[in-house]
Amino acid sequence: MPSYKAPLRDQQFVLHELLGAVDELNALPRYAELDAHTINHVVEEAGKFCEDVLLPTNRPGDEEGCTYDPAAKSVRTPTGFKAAYDAFREAGWQGLAAETEYGGQGLPHLLQIAFYEMQYSTNQAWAMYPGLTIGAYECLLKHASDEQKSLFLPKMTSGEWTGTMCLTEPHCGTDLGMLRTKAVPQADGSYKLTGEKIFISAGEHDMSDNIIHLVLARLPDAPQGTKGISLFVVPKFLPVGSGESATVGARNGVFCGGIEHKMGINGNATCQISLENATGWLVGEPNKGLAAMFVMMNGARLGVGVQGLGITEVAYQNAAAYAKERIQGRALSGPKSPDQPADPIIVHPDVRRMLLTARAYAEGGRAFAYWVALMADHHLHHPDPEKKKFAADMMSLMTPIVKAFMTDSGFDCASQCMQVFGGQGYVQATGVEQFIRDARINMIYEGTNTIQSLDLLGRKVLLDNGAKLRAFGKLVAAFIEENGSDAAMNEFVTPLAELGDKVTKLSTEIGMKALANPDEVGGAAVDYLRVVGHLVYAYFWAKMAKIALERIKADGSSVDPFYRNKLTVARFYFERLLPETAARIRAARSGVKNLLELPAEAF
Ligand SMILES: Cc1cc2nc3c(=O)[nH]c(=O)nc-3n(C[C@H](O)[C@H](O)[C@H](O)COP(=O)(O)OP(=O)(O)OC[C@H]3O[C@@H](n4cnc5c(N)ncnc54)[C@H](O)[C@@H]3O)c2cc1C
Repeated sequence: MPSYKAPLRDQQFVLHELLGAVDELNALPRYAELDAHTINHVVEEAGKFCEDVLLPTNRPGDEEGCTYDPAAKSVRTPTGFKAAYDAFREAGWQGLAAETEYGGQGLPHLLQIAFYEMQYSTNQAWAMYPGLTIGAYECLLKHASDEQKSLFLPKMTSGEWTGTMCLTEPHCGTDLGMLRTKAVPQADGSYKLTGEKIFISAGEHDMSDNIIHLVLARLPDAPQGTKGISLFVVPKFLPVGSGESATVGARNGVFCGGIEHKMGINGNATCQISLENATGWLVGEPNKGLAAMFVMMNGARLGVGVQGLGITEVAYQNAAAYAKERIQGRALSGPKSPDQPADPIIVHPDVRRMLLTARAYAEGGRAFAYWVALMADHHLHHPDPEKKKFAADMMSLMTPIVKAFMTDSGFDCASQCMQVFGGQGYVQATGVEQFIRDARINMIYEGTNTIQSLDLLGRKVLLDNGAKLRAFGKLVAAFIEENGSDAAMNEFVTPLAELGDKVTKLSTEIGMKALANPDEVGGAAVDYLRVVGHLVYAYFWAKMAKIALERIKADGSSVDPFYRNKLTVARFYFERLLPETAARIRAARSGVKNLLELPAEAF
């Protein structure tokens, strides 16, 4: 059974030393009183919940999976899931970052992201139930009418009602413009929805009193394609009353026709959902549903990226512990544990390479994702319009990178950590293979990672004439300027500056090629995202290295070893992981011809 300890020391380093969370948040009137003690207390308590309540449900939940009852069209979640959810709900965790107006605690998104990370480390399948509810809550908060908000949000904040996102249909996943679910207006202002949705996470289960589906559908006179999609709220049970005192009434015509048997996240019900003249209400404006749903999709993309981080961290912790215990072979330079028949495998350089890869992606990813969450708080609540705009631009630019870079790396790191276990990792007893199975979906759902890379290069960089990328580039340039003359920082600043220049050139080059042939974007996008992702990680690793160097300088030999270790991992990142960019740039520059030349029939 895998073990897990909340990475509190590193979380506190990121929150306080890297991001300056207290000052950054105190600048927002809403969080003017928030102090370090409260921040640390929330993260510590959240960590305890994940260690004590969620982790024990992870392995059994994977083995048992969800059970579908065709007679009742109901789903039973694995043993222990509901009890964990009840404990979560009763402790008020569901409303951590929700508005106080609806019963939430109104805390920053930054804390929510820290909690997400630990939930995804300890039980990704379980964490998707409350996670989807938060996404649906945020979408309704932004786009629903006041009446809809008071009807649904208090119960979703308390976790008594959970949420879903119903986009995918059997014939359309990526290309939602083809969706067919119909919504017909009724005299009382409601709509009747008919259609088939597939792959709906948490679409049916036994953890909450009601399930609030956010459904994309077409009105009878809707234009073709994505311009004709509207958003509807469709509850499993029609609500009676409103606010805290709302209860559930008649069963609505939205049913689960079955669940998928799949590679991972077995504790999360992936449902076929059939809408059979189901009653729903329009959210926002007709035909503007996809834009409204993007609130939920963007939130979910950040959440999925953090799933990659959570898996990386837990896989690393378990692989590191194993590598210190498992004895096998001798160090090439001579025995390190001469009193034992062999050395622990952590003496072998390549075992360390695998462990350090996971650690560098976990710590770099934590710095990056928490910063993006801080940008979310700035975007929502900063009193300075310029800072608000900057934060919005950064969230827009970084969302595809969080989603794709962190989940690609998460899967790779889970695989590297399994390798550390050797054959013990491949068999089920150690529980490590579950991390790989769970991590694999993160690259697919919420828009595949290819789609994320097209979003980054096509929409966020080229269509924007590079403006948002330049705004991030200014942060990088300011850091280089500030530290360029510090000899101790040279090993970090020089490669960061070089990569910044290369990204600028690469973006321009692809942009020029795309003018002549738009397929060039599709040919370069995945490699491009890896390159920009590394630019972002290099920036955060360089900043972390600077903090570590300063502390080492100030404290000398009495320095907390945490800082020496941070510096060592920073060096590993720059020397061993960042060079991936050279191959990626070369591949991206090779052009699309080598991909399109082979005729389709020759495949
Ligand atoms: C376990 C699980 C849970 C899910 N949960 C939900 C949920 O809660 N709600 C929901 O609505 N959906 C959900 N999904 C659906 C998920 O979001 C889709 O599977 C995903 O968006 C991809 O769609 P698709 O499967 O139809 O693949 P397709 O769209 O058929 O894509 C197939 C391949 O073609 C590539 N491709 C497609 N179009 C392009 C293009 N234009 N350019 C380049 N490449 C392209 C894709 O990248 C992919 O590699 C879930 C899926 C799974 C498996």
